[in-house]
Amino acid sequence: MAALPKVEVAAAGAKQSAVINFLKESPKNLLIGGKFVAAKSGKVFESINPANEEVLALVAEGDAADIDEAVKAARGAFEQGRWPSMRPAERARYLFKVADLIEAHSEELAELETLDNGKPIWESRVVDVPFAAETFRYYAGWVTKIYGETNPSDPSMFNFTLHEPVGVCGQIIPWNFPLLMASWKLAPALACGNTVILKPAEQTPLTALRLGELILEAGLPDGVVNVIPGFGPTAGGAIAAHPGIDKVAFTGSTEVGKEILKASAGNLKRISLELGGKSPNIIFPDTDMKRAVGSAMMGVFMTQGQVCCAGTRIFVEQGIYEQFAEALSQGAQKMTLGNPLDPKTKMGPVVSREQYDRVMGYVKIGKDEGAKVAAGGEAAGGKGYFIKPTVFTGVCNEMRIAREEIFGPVAATIPFKDEDDAVLQGNDTTYGLAAAVWTRDVSRAVRVARRLKAGTVWVNTYGVLDPISPFGGYKQSGFGRELGRYALELYTQVKSVFVAL
Ligand code: NAP
Ligand code: MG
Repeated sequence: MAALPKVEVAAAGAKQSAVINFLKESPKNLLIGGKFVAAKSGKVFESINPANEEVLALVAEGDAADIDEAVKAARGAFEQGRWPSMRPAERARYLFKVADLIEAHSEELAELETLDNGKPIWESRVVDVPFAAETFRYYAGWVTKIYGETNPSDPSMFNFTLHEPVGVCGQIIPWNFPLLMASWKLAPALACGNTVILKPAEQTPLTALRLGELILEAGLPDGVVNVIPGFGPTAGGAIAAHPGIDKVAFTGSTEVGKEILKASAGNLKRISLELGGKSPNIIFPDTDMKRAVGSAMMGVFMTQGQVCCAGTRIFVEQGIYEQFAEALSQGAQKMTLGNPLDPKTKMGPVVSREQYDRVMGYVKIGKDEGAKVAAGGEAAGGKGYFIKPTVFTGVCNEMRIAREEIFGPVAATIPFKDEDDAVLQGNDTTYGLAAAVWTRDVSRAVRVARRLKAGTVWVNTYGVLDPISPFGGYKQSGFGRELGRYALELYTQVKSVFVAL
């Protein structure tokens, strides 16, 4: 057994005693069938605080055997349990309760998220935690509004449709928004009456486990939500291949998304994939330059750039390119890098040593490709996985730093000639998750928004998301739409009933 973590050292600066107490209960176990249990193998792994490289917690390492148990629990809760068949108004109340509990524990969850992931505390407080609560509340509202239809069939028949839950859902999520991704996945699945096995990312399992505790506290029946931390190829792979799972929802890399699609063929699972991006942010000269620069910075540097819809390719009209790149670089240089628990910190560490190496590798690739470093371009040094916000100028869309998802604080600025050129270059990517256009010309804004091949387009803003509005990709950014009423389609199936009169 690994040595117990030194919680006071690893979580130095945390103010919430609930966080310290949670971390001290070690190891953190798997949630299966309403109970927290050790992994069958007895194995544990470490969850690290990326700001100081200390071990925050030991976490039970789920694998295929534990996924099997979780499938039994989820199947039992679906086939014999009350969850899918209870009065919708009652099921809604459970989800409202989860939202209330997230809010009641918001500061604790924000600290835990920042410790495990490294994102600045202001982000956890303003974005991750409140948006997670709002997502549960939004889908709680839908529970009583999932309608079928009555159809004008032959007069001798009464024909109607039922929108029924899919069954047992496997949900595999990444480390960039751990609590929020758990909420985006769980809330619509539960609203529709499904039962779930959730696998958080190995880098950030803690808030999903804490959410599991809150879900039990809210009183959801045992086995409705199971949370199994573990590694991708073992725990994740077992979910993708398991014949007892009816649907898999995945957020993460395009590469793994393809693996999951293949593995799911065995029992023809329904699949939804929310994958990577290399989103264009297009700046025309007739815009509020100050706002455009500020927004582009947020768009590419938030969560240390580890955001699937990050605006990593910033296309700027050639006449204002120098001026814009200069302002962006100055802004990047001014961002305060430091202890993510400090409310003044604007940029924390990237999530892991592996991600640090990967991002620094791309910084080197950019330099080798001949792009110019206008800001950052190096690590911050010292303990923790800190990388300075980096702006490359002189980038062309063919370079690897403009084509491959870096998932770190690295912006590629690229000049364009005119509207056609901006759209052509913007669409010249294998991805299609998001895009933005900045202009005061309404006609141009709408024309460009129509022509961009992306699941979300922002006009004169960047990165706005809302539980009411669908989110998902074109091209290799995946398929299926999360959020909004569209997510209900992922988690229901339609039955047509004919009654002879
Ligand atoms: P990843 O491997 O795609 O991880 C996402 C999730 O999938 C994690 O829970 C992971 O588990 C799991 N997983 C990994 N291999 C699996 C497999 N063979 N079968 C089933 N599940 C599997 O992403 P990553 O390695 O953490 O990051 C690599 C790159 O992916 C990033 O640099 C970025 O480009 C991209 N990414 C995109 C998003 C997004 O929101 N679109 C999010 C994260 C990463 P483990 O954590 O245990 O491996
Ligand atoms: Mg961690």
